[in-house]
Amino acid sequence: MSATARQWLERIRALPLPDRVRIMNVCGGHERSISMAGLRGTLPPQVELIPGPGCPVCVCPEEDVYHAMQIALQDPEVIVVSFGDMLRVPVNLPLKETRSLEQAKAAGGDVRPVASPTEAVEIARANPGRRVVFFAAGFETTTAPVAAMLAGDPPENLLVLLAGRRTWPAVAMLLESEDRSFDALIAPGHVATVMGPEEWDFVVEQHRLPAAVAGFHPESLLAATYSVLRQLVEGKCFLDNCYPEVARPGGNATARRFLDETMDVIDAGWRGIGTIPASGYGLREHLAARDARRHFPDYGAHDRKRAGLMPKGCDCARVVLGKIYPNQCRIYGSACTPRTPVGPCMVSDEGACRIWWSNGIRTREVA
Ligand code: SF4
Repeated sequence: MSATARQWLERIRALPLPDRVRIMNVCGGHERSISMAGLRGTLPPQVELIPGPGCPVCVCPEEDVYHAMQIALQDPEVIVVSFGDMLRVPVNLPLKETRSLEQAKAAGGDVRPVASPTEAVEIARANPGRRVVFFAAGFETTTAPVAAMLAGDPPENLLVLLAGRRTWPAVAMLLESEDRSFDALIAPGHVATVMGPEEWDFVVEQHRLPAAVAGFHPESLLAATYSVLRQLVEGKCFLDNCYPEVARPGGNATARRFLDETMDVIDAGWRGIGTIPASGYGLREHLAARDARRHFPDYGAHDRKRAGLMPKGCDCARVVLGKIYPNQCRIYGSACTPRTPVGPCMVSDEGACRIWWSNGIRTREVA
């Protein structure tokens, strides 16, 4: 641990803390840094760091995954591309059926992982006689590059199956719920970099909760933790930007313009949770020709109406909402492991279950 991190820890330990303080983070990158650096074990025992809705792959509606799988399975002319994590996300079908994009590829579909929208464009250029469907799930930081790609006039054979989500409406929903499960928020530095830190002002202004924007190093996370704890102790609340070198007022104007020009804000489904108002992105009307949802039948995907449902025994929705810790899921480490994932949180590098498992937490706790 660096000298700076140790200094932040000393300051935190010197605070006259209440018996219990619950601080939520809403970013898979934050949760990964917290877990890898072992920050939970170094903080005073009354401080709880709760992973919340920070994994876009985990909240992508099952029907969208199913739709992408069916496009790949039923139209051999099409190439389906998606970010690598998404390929292993299982849908809730019997084990003997094709249950993921990876399995759709094994069954003959042309499914390819990509690391960026640029790779999707390259694949479309290299295959001018075929349609390429880019299944794009992500939060603002991932969706903005998709918007930039669309604004850049990509090849005509590149279509988008968009599942972009906005982070703050999910936090607003949690704050408005009766059983709010946290006392302070560490806001996501990447999202604030794109959209501007002030997007998180509502946490303070409407809900009177301490909040701090954090970067991804332990030092920044500890600075944000200290900030919200001190606010609580002193009975103040404000939005502290502990990532000012990157997250600037107004965010990234170019990225926001691309989002505005290519996408509308829509009500959107979150897997296991249901519809959250104004929490998603949809392609704007002038991009209808790019919209894979208009080009392909949905193969019954939306008759499945599964956005609010999860596989039997799976507690992913409660993990995503910060109601329980990952290892409090009933099947953590037994039926559900990275080799045999039941829910998406054990698949994605940003999923809390995967992160906890990868950092050596193998025992289940009773909630
Ligand atoms: S252990 Fe598996 S099923 Fe349970 S919450 Fe995590 S990913 Fe979902």
